[in-house]
Amino acid sequence: MKLLIFGVGGFIGSNLVEHLIAEGEHEVIGIDQSDEKLAGIEGPNFTFVEADITKSHDLADEMVSKADVVVDLIAYANPSIYVATPIDVVQLNFFENMKIAEYCIKHGKRLFQYSTSEVYGKAGRDGFYNEETSDLIMGPVTKQRWIYAAGKQYLERIIHAHGLRGDLEYTIVRPFNFVGPRFDYLVPAETKGGPRVFAHFMSALLTGGPMYLVDGGNQRRSFTHIQDTSEAFSILLDHPQAINQIFNIGNPATDISIKELAIFMMELYEELTGKKPNNELIEVSGEEFYGEGYEDMNRVPPDISKLRSLGWEPKRGLRETFSDAMRYNLDPAVHASILA
Ligand code: UDP
Repeated sequence: MKLLIFGVGGFIGSNLVEHLIAEGEHEVIGIDQSDEKLAGIEGPNFTFVEADITKSHDLADEMVSKADVVVDLIAYANPSIYVATPIDVVQLNFFENMKIAEYCIKHGKRLFQYSTSEVYGKAGRDGFYNEETSDLIMGPVTKQRWIYAAGKQYLERIIHAHGLRGDLEYTIVRPFNFVGPRFDYLVPAETKGGPRVFAHFMSALLTGGPMYLVDGGNQRRSFTHIQDTSEAFSILLDHPQAINQIFNIGNPATDISIKELAIFMMELYEELTGKKPNNELIEVSGEEFYGEGYEDMNRVPPDISKLRSLGWEPKRGLRETFSDAMRYNLDPAVHASILA
């Protein structure tokens, strides 16, 4: 099969390509405006095309026409960006993604749309978030952090409606806090509101700066090893029951509070480096960390029974997930710039 991946140069894309190269079963063509995270990822079945999707619509249309399956990973995926530049977020994450869906409809191609666990929004009544039964609960419009989740939700609803009408074959996946090598980006000590939590805490460990606990750090997340998520992709690609369906990809066994995560990462850092960290844990408000317009989800627990029923199981626990992600960042070639 010929797979076309939009946004191949990001964290999920670069790890997915590495996995697909190792499998060697498909021809993969990836598009992105930068190949920075693809350094060293090479294989006879992988071709990279450098292009900014927002300025290359004809090229994107033509490439979709030549593919068998289209994987759309294009997104700004950082709460700090949703708060600071909400228009850019909806422009890319909704309108540009919608164009890719339209090319798939036009050329009759199957679309793999990466969405987000944030579509579930604030904690509802349900224990675990289920694709078929959970309500999707967004915060107020004036809290612009929800523009990302609302945009992705609307995108999902339109894609689903096309599936119902019979003019699009789709699979939607909802990632629950994927972590691993090449995740996000490191930042100098004391940076607030930059990357996702792992990258902030990792940067603090490397620089000796404080670890900020937003609103106390009692909110919980479950984290998924990126390799488990690439394996999920392969199952979904091959399984007939994945057509016109939505799947959570997550690992409920790794559920942990952000404060516990900070302490856990300090312990892991000592195990991996032999150096005892003594970072200060500082509580800050969401507004101070991200700016006005932030709201949080206090828990994001995935129900993964649907994907399990297709034969997938997350194999890597908290320790392996965070050790692998941390080891990558311990390489001086990766972290030198934040210590300069
Ligand atoms: N967070 C934190 N300290 C940080 C970065 C993030 O306490 O340095 C919190 C953030 O407020 C959120 C959680 O950690 O409650 C996870 O944030 P992240 O941006 O990684 O992902 P998301 O909120 O999208 O799950």
